[in-house]
Amino acid sequence: MIPLTDDNLPNHDDQRQKVLDTIIERKKMDAYVEHRLKDLKVCTICGQINYRKTPMKKIGGRWVCFNCLKELKEALDELDMWEEEIALEKDMTRQFDEGMGI
Ligand SMILES: [Zn+2]
Repeated sequence: MIPLTDDNLPNHDDQRQKVLDTIIERKKMDAYVEHRLKDLKVCTICGQINYRKTPMKKIGGRWVCFNCLKELKEALDELDMWEEEIALEKDMTRQFDEGMGI
């Protein structure tokens, strides 16, 4: 009796293996897509979709992308300037009102 090896397997087994391979490949693909979806994050501010490799930060349970954080930081950095402007404006209005004798 000839031992069964990959070389002398009957043809229909070959066919069966091909079908099995296809199923396995498809399952791998499904698992991959699911895995990727788990890593998928959407920026709360700009709505950009990012994967794990893209830098994103969780703020208040929501994801914010690096670009939006940068803009946010710039806005925060200007906060002091805004406050000064507002205070100056108030001061000027007060001085003007006093000058008018109100
Ligand atoms: Zn963003």
